[in-house]
Amino acid sequence: MSKVHNFSAGPCILPPEVLSKASQSVIELGNHGLSLIEMSHRSAPFVEIMEKARNHVKELLNVPDGYTVLFLQGGASLGFYISAMNFMKEGGKAAYVDTGSWSNKAIKEAKLLGDVDVVASSEESNFNYIPKGYTVPSDVDYLHLTSNNTIFGTQIKEFPQSSVPVICDMSSDIFSKPVNVSDFALIYGGAQKNMGPAGTTFYIVKDELLGKTGRKIPSMLNLEVHKSKDSMFNTPPVFPVYVSMLMMEWMMEQGGVPEMERRNNAKAELLYGEIDRNPLFKGTTAVEDRSPMNATFVLTNESLKGEFDTMWNAAGISGIKGHRSVGGYRASMYNALPLESVQVLVDVMQELERKA
Ligand SMILES: *Cc1c(COP(=O)(O)O)cnc(C)c1O
Repeated sequence: MSKVHNFSAGPCILPPEVLSKASQSVIELGNHGLSLIEMSHRSAPFVEIMEKARNHVKELLNVPDGYTVLFLQGGASLGFYISAMNFMKEGGKAAYVDTGSWSNKAIKEAKLLGDVDVVASSEESNFNYIPKGYTVPSDVDYLHLTSNNTIFGTQIKEFPQSSVPVICDMSSDIFSKPVNVSDFALIYGGAQKNMGPAGTTFYIVKDELLGKTGRKIPSMLNLEVHKSKDSMFNTPPVFPVYVSMLMMEWMMEQGGVPEMERRNNAKAELLYGEIDRNPLFKGTTAVEDRSPMNATFVLTNESLKGEFDTMWNAAGISGIKGHRSVGGYRASMYNALPLESVQVLVDVMQELERKA
């Protein structure tokens, strides 16, 4: 297999060690004589995997007592609705900060259940910055945030003070830097950005805040039901949970979340440094809100597009075409992307400068 530098925004790059263990498990898990994907989810080996996956989340993020970790299905897109359903009171109201496409979708789902107060938005400038200094009303059931805007390339660096419970979609920057879990009522996200493969969604929920809405909640959307069954109310997504567990073990072996943050900062400095230095490129977002996970940038001279695209393709770079709502390029630098891959991209950018 030739070396590909995978900058995909999601599903994301996973370390080769993880892929190799994952593929082995499909043939046979350990010495159990069965494939992971043909054994009962109630069997001892899988119950242990689920247990480990939960504990790894707790260890990596220093999750305090009083929180439950769940692995469910439906993606963060169902999480938009589940979060509202479990935290918005019957006839209630919630505050949302609108920082891009994913926040927009979260708002749309919450509106199906109650009033939504959009307390801040950067829509007027195509979401190229994170709104700050807004006030959160005290009469809302919760405040909803999107920590990292995968499409627009911005990240909340400092979470706002809030007197109401805070819910955060952390799909694309979970495990990329330390987070103070006790500041949140609920953290959720699709695994496929920085945790594992597509197919499972993590929820880290504060126990004492569940069951307070006065709503009738369908079992599959009810976090209390899933909590009472240890994420096994129905058949869990066994393979994505297992691969996520492997990915978390890889992170722990590498030095945990602080080491992930160190590497991510090094990658981000290298790429943003080149974007700022090289006159042929410019970033699309406010400098102070730049995401270390997803760097969005454009060519200053569109006529070089063909040449640049040919060059990065030839260098084995994959997945840097920008999202249609921003255009240009987006380099996603999730935990498993090595610094060397970013160097290859930077080399191509410099090569283009020499040629142009
Ligand atoms: C990708 C993404 C989603 C959607 O996740 P799915 O698991 O595909 O539903 C939601 N929020 C953010 C921030 C994302 O990056």
